[in-house]
Amino acid sequence: MRQLKIAGGIFAIVLAIFFGLGTYLFWPVVLDPIDDINATLPAPTQPSKVRLSAMTTGFNVSPQAAIYSGGKFTKSHRSVYSGFVIEHPDATFMLEGGIGNKIAEEHARNMNALERRLFAFQKTETAKERMIAARYDPAQIEFIILTHLHWDHAAVIPEFPGTPIWTEAKELDAAQALSDTHISYFAEHLNRDDTVWSFIEFDDKPYGPFDKSKDIFGDGSVVLIPLGGHTKGSIGAVVTTAAGKRYFFIGDVSWSLEAIKLLRPKTPFVGNMVDADREKTREVVALLHEVWKDNPDMLIVPTHDGPVVAQLSSFPAFE
Ligand SMILES: [Zn+2]
Repeated sequence: MRQLKIAGGIFAIVLAIFFGLGTYLFWPVVLDPIDDINATLPAPTQPSKVRLSAMTTGFNVSPQAAIYSGGKFTKSHRSVYSGFVIEHPDATFMLEGGIGNKIAEEHARNMNALERRLFAFQKTETAKERMIAARYDPAQIEFIILTHLHWDHAAVIPEFPGTPIWTEAKELDAAQALSDTHISYFAEHLNRDDTVWSFIEFDDKPYGPFDKSKDIFGDGSVVLIPLGGHTKGSIGAVVTTAAGKRYFFIGDVSWSLEAIKLLRPKTPFVGNMVDADREKTREVVALLHEVWKDNPDMLIVPTHDGPVVAQLSSFPAFE
C-alpha cells in the first residue's frame, strides 16, 4: 500500500511537470501592444532605381507551433534560407545569402545528433550555384549585408571569400566570443583569414519610430536599422524598388509575418535557445507590429518565412 502511494505520488509529480512544462512551452502568448505611436516609415528622398531578386538555398517544414507561440500543431509551415540580390546604380550587393555548400559538414562538426535533428533542413542550391546556373557573375556582388551572424546566415561567408561582409562590430565580437560554445554560431564562418569585415555604423538619424538608421546610398532606397535582441547586433533593412514596392527585411526578429500581425513571440522553447535577449526581441516584435499597421503598402519579410519570400520575384527574375 505504501509503495503504491509513493508510486502514485511520483506519477502525479511527473504528470504535473509534464503538463506544467507543456503549458509553459506552448501556452499561446500575445504580447502587449505599444499604444499610440506613429510608425510610418519615410519614403525615399529621390525616385528609387533599385532592382531586387529573391532566392532560397534550402528549406524545412515544421508545425506552425514550432515557429511562433499559439501556432497550430496541425498546420505546417515552410521555412527557407533566403538571400536577396539588390542592384542599385552605385552597387550590386546581397542582403542575406542563405546557406553554403559545406553546410552538411559544418552541421556534423558543430551539432550533436539531437541538435541536427532539431535544425534539420533540405539544401537546394546555394546563391553562388544559382548565379552560375543563370550566367549571373557572382563577382558582381560587391558586398553582403547580414542581418546577424547565426550559422544559417553566416554560412554564405565561405562562399564569397574576399567579398566584404557588412555587420555591426558588436555583432561580430559577440558571435566570435560564443562561436565555440553556442549552438547558433559556427567558428568556421567567423574566424577566417579570407573575410573582409566591414562594420556598419549607424547614424543618430531617426527613421520612423527608430532612433538610428543608416541610409546606405543617401537616397533613402536602402535604409538599415538596428533591431538588436535576437542577437546583440541584429539589423533590418527597408528597401524601396524602382517599381515602388517596399520591403522591410527583419532577419530573425520573427520567423513569420503572421506572428508579427498576431503579436506572437517565438515559442518559449526555441526563443530561449535562439534569442540572445528574449525580452528585447519581444519589444522589437511589438514595434514591428506597429510598423506593419502603419505601413499597409509595405511587406515585412522575415528571412525564413517561406510563403512571404515566395511573393518576391524569384532569381534570376528581378522586380
Ligand atoms: Zn536564421
